[in-house]
Amino acid sequence: MYRIDHWIDGRAVASKSGRSGKVFDPATGQVQGEVGFADVTEVDTVVATAKAALPAWRATNLSRRAEIMFHMRELVAANRKEIASLLTKEHGKVLSDALGEVARGLENIEFACGVPNLLKGGYSEQASAGVDVYNIRQPLGVVAGITPFNFPAMVPMWMFANALACGNTFVLKPSEKDPSASMFIAELLKQAGLPDGCFNVVHGDKVAVDRLLEHPDVSAVSFVGSTPIAKYIYETGTKNGKRVQALGGAKNHMLVLPDADLDMAADALVSAAYGSAGERCMAISVVLAVDTIADELAAKVKDRIPNVKVGPGTEPDAEMGPLISAEHRDKVAGYVAGASGEGATVLVDGRDGAPSDGFFLKPSLIDNVKPGMKCYDDEIFGPVLSIVRVSSYEEGLQLINDNLYGNGTAIFTRDGGVARQFQFDVNVGMVGINVPIPVPVSYYSFGGWKASLFGDQHMYGPEGINFFTRSKVVTSRWPDPRTSKVDLGFPQNR
Ligand code: NAD
Repeated sequence: MYRIDHWIDGRAVASKSGRSGKVFDPATGQVQGEVGFADVTEVDTVVATAKAALPAWRATNLSRRAEIMFHMRELVAANRKEIASLLTKEHGKVLSDALGEVARGLENIEFACGVPNLLKGGYSEQASAGVDVYNIRQPLGVVAGITPFNFPAMVPMWMFANALACGNTFVLKPSEKDPSASMFIAELLKQAGLPDGCFNVVHGDKVAVDRLLEHPDVSAVSFVGSTPIAKYIYETGTKNGKRVQALGGAKNHMLVLPDADLDMAADALVSAAYGSAGERCMAISVVLAVDTIADELAAKVKDRIPNVKVGPGTEPDAEMGPLISAEHRDKVAGYVAGASGEGATVLVDGRDGAPSDGFFLKPSLIDNVKPGMKCYDDEIFGPVLSIVRVSSYEEGLQLINDNLYGNGTAIFTRDGGVARQFQFDVNVGMVGINVPIPVPVSYYSFGGWKASLFGDQHMYGPEGINFFTRSKVVTSRWPDPRTSKVDLGFPQNR
C-alpha cells in the first residue's frame, strides 16, 4: 500500500483532512494505494501558494519560460516508460497504449515551447495621426485543471503546458482513481526548473472541485470529464465569474459507405472501439453500416474479435486491459445484458471468458441497434461496439447530427466528393476521413460540439493559448505637449 499526497509549493504534502480514496490495481481488483482528499482549507492553501508564485512567474521572460518547457520536453521524453508504467499500474491500459498517451501529451509541451512566437500580438502604426495601436496577451492568473481518469497524463499536459507557458500558475485536480502520474509530472516540472508554487496538485472529490469553482482567486477552470459534470462545472464556474472550458462525454459514430475497403474499415473499427477498453472519449462506439455491406462488415469485425488479446497491461502481448473499476465494469456489462431485451442482436458477448481477477470485460459486438435503445442512447465508455444499419449516407448523417453528443466522428469511403460533403454537413467538432480516431495534433485544437463541450474555446493548440490569456489593446501617442488642448468630442480618426 502506498500513499499519494498533494503537491504544494514544490513538495509532497500529506492531506490532514481525514478523508481519502482507494486506488485499485484494475488488473487484479486489489487496493494498492490511498489518496488523501483535500478539504476546503487544503484547497485554500494550494490556491494561496499558486497566487503567491504568480507575480514572479508572470514577470519571467518568455525565453526562460520556453527554456523550462524545452527541459520538460526532454524530461518527459526520457521518462516516458516510467510515466507509462504508472498509467498501466493505476488505469490498467496496456503499456503500448500508455506510451502512446505520453507521446500525444508530449506534443502539447512541444507546442508550448513556441510560446514566444505564440504570444506575439498585432501592431498598427499610425491608426490615427501619431497614434499607434497594439494588442498583447496576458495571463489570467491562477488557473485550475480538473481531469478525468482515462488519460491521467495526457489531459493534464493538454492544460498545464500552455497555461504555464502563458504565465499563469496552475492547480491540478486529477482523477482520484489514478492520481500518481500527476505527482510524477510535478516532480519533472520541478526538475525542469519551474519555480515552486507554479504547478500544484490537489487531490480529492467534489469537495475540492467545488472549492476551486467558488474560490475568488481562481480565474479560470479547464475541465475534461463526463457531460453531467462538465455542465455542472461550466454553470457553477461561470456563475462565479470564471472563464470555463468544460469538455464532456461522447458517442462517436463511424459511417461506412459501400465503396469503402471493408477490411480496412473492420481493422479500424476493432482498433477504435476496443483500444484502451473503449475508455476513450474519441473511441468509436457506433458503426453506421449501409445495408448493402452491413452483413459483410459485421462478419469481418466479429472475425477479428477473438484475436484481441485481453490481459493485464503489463503483459507484453496484451492489447486490451481491464476497465477502471468494478462498478464501471458492471455498468458496461449491463448494457450488453440488456441489449437483446430491447430487440438488438448480441453477436459477441464480452462477459464470456473475461478474466475473473480484476475488472475485465472482453470486446462486445451488438447488431441491429437503434436509437431509443439504452446501448445506443447512453455513452457506455467500455469495449462495446454497436452496429446501426442505415439505408443511405443521408440517413447515417442524420443520425450523427441528431445525436446529443458531437465529439468525434469518422467516414470510411473511397469517394472524395462524398467525404468532402460529410465534412461540410456533419455537426461534430472532430472529423476523420478514413481516420477512426481523429484526435487533432497539438497545433490545432481539440474539442467537440453540442453536449461534448460547454464553453467556447477548445482545448490546447491556438484556442488553448486564447483560453489561458486575455487580450489587452493599447492605444498610444507621444504628441508635442504644445499642441495639447481640451476637446470633449468623441475621439475620431477621420
Ligand atoms: P467524471 O466526470 O466522473 O470525472 C471527471 C473529474 O470530475 C474528476 O476529476 C472527478 O473527481 C470530478 N468529479 C466527478 N464527480 C464530480 C462532482 N459530482 N462534482 C464535482 N467534480 C466531480 O469523468 P471520468 O469518469 O473521470 O472520465 C470519463 C468521462 O470523461 C467520459 O464521459 C469521457 O467521455 C469523458 N472524457 C471526455 C474527453 C473530451 O475531451 N471530451 C476526454 C476524456 C474523457
